[in-house]
Amino acid sequence: MKRRDFLERTSIAGLGLAVNTSKLVLPIQADKKVRLAFIGVGERGRSHVEQCMYRPDVEIVAIADPDAFAIAETKKMILAANRKEPAIYANGNFDFENMVKRDDIDGVIISTPWRWHTPQAISSMKAGKYTAVEVPVAVTMEECWDLVRTHEETSSHFMILENVCYRRDVIAALNMIRKGIFGEMVYAHCGYEHDLREVKFNNGNNPANTEVEFGEKAYSEAKWRTLESVTRNGDIYPTHGLGPVSEWFNINRGNRFTHLTSTATKARGLHNYIVEKGGVNHPNANVNFKLGDVVTTVIQCHNGENIVMMHDTNLPRPYSLGFRAQGTKGIWEDEGSRIFIEGTSPAHKWEDWKPYQAKHDHPLWAKFEKDAENAGHGGMDFFVIRAFIESIKRKVAPPLDVYDAASLSVVSHLSERSIAEGSTPQAFPDFTKGKWKTNQPIFGLNDAF
Ligand code: NAD
Repeated sequence: MKRRDFLERTSIAGLGLAVNTSKLVLPIQADKKVRLAFIGVGERGRSHVEQCMYRPDVEIVAIADPDAFAIAETKKMILAANRKEPAIYANGNFDFENMVKRDDIDGVIISTPWRWHTPQAISSMKAGKYTAVEVPVAVTMEECWDLVRTHEETSSHFMILENVCYRRDVIAALNMIRKGIFGEMVYAHCGYEHDLREVKFNNGNNPANTEVEFGEKAYSEAKWRTLESVTRNGDIYPTHGLGPVSEWFNINRGNRFTHLTSTATKARGLHNYIVEKGGVNHPNANVNFKLGDVVTTVIQCHNGENIVMMHDTNLPRPYSLGFRAQGTKGIWEDEGSRIFIEGTSPAHKWEDWKPYQAKHDHPLWAKFEKDAENAGHGGMDFFVIRAFIESIKRKVAPPLDVYDAASLSVVSHLSERSIAEGSTPQAFPDFTKGKWKTNQPIFGLNDAF
């Protein structure tokens, strides 16, 4: 592409006008059922299994999980839905390797603790399977590169299951950005602001435990996620906020993240919770949590936009992802559900967001609202799973690919490094190796995803 063409395209993309929102219909090349296998059938994995069982075009072939309770619950659910009993791979932490080698599987959905995501995804891609991974897909920069390299070497497709990209309001905002209603995009705010203290200390099925247990004695995420707060300080869960924003800003498709800085507060929330619930003499009252209670990260983009993102999981507070989209002509904030568009809204006055959302509802929501009713997280889980299944059926790359997954997930590693080095700027690697300059947006632009 000539330089002038490129500049024209990127600057128009910056104005939010480059994307053709007319619906492109992708051919469905497979009329057979999509055959899926699941690695990790804990809380999240089971909700994906359930979601897939609503679909007559999906067969659940096999499940892998070393946890007997998780396997038993999943099997019960599948049989209760009058589905065929899946093959079980429960013989330890590496039995998934035997499962992904099966030749009757089209796609693998991975919902395991974070440190398992990359090795399992690599194994699945090497076995030639479409691979979908829960968030974040990786913990370190090296893992991000390993995923990109494996995808390039095997040509196996990879998708990050970032469900929030499909949240009805953020995808309506994307629609408005693409129509140019906010003018040229300048700024976004987002984050993961969710009081997880109860999740991080969960006695699950074992009443002998106190309410402030974590690690091996605990249940579900308290088994593994809390340990991340003991050893790491950074934005360790960045993708729910950043996923949608990266679509707003055409990241890896005309734009890219260039660098970030992160700053963390002191850590008080988890310790105080233990003392409150378990008493000052509880053994866990001696644990030294490294994760700052509020971590603020500022990301700079190539086309000049900034993003401020928050990680805030250990203090009392209501849930929020804190979205704000701001351009040269207007601003939307999800907190307060309010919008201002210059020339349309009364001068200097907020308007209610709801009529705007209804007017600019994304075609996927308009079409599949009913189907999404059973799905978790207000319906968005339906869309993210659907996108994976439709990519398999159409034999195309998924909309949130390995490059998106790596750019979103590497934030944790860079954020930790920035904090460790006194909030110094950290450069993002270019996982696309220059292809971001010519790649075109695909997310939300066709009938599949
Ligand atoms: P969980 O602890 O309930 O489930 C994890 C499961 O993985 C457990 O059953 C565990 O036995 C299994 N597992 C562990 N090691 C394994 C191995 N080697 N092979 C196969 N299975 C193994 O946790 P969860 O809440 O289900 O979270 C799983 C993932 O989903 C995490 O990455 C989490 O961040 C993500 N998640 C995403 C959302 C979302 O909205 N997108 C919501 C919740 C959780």
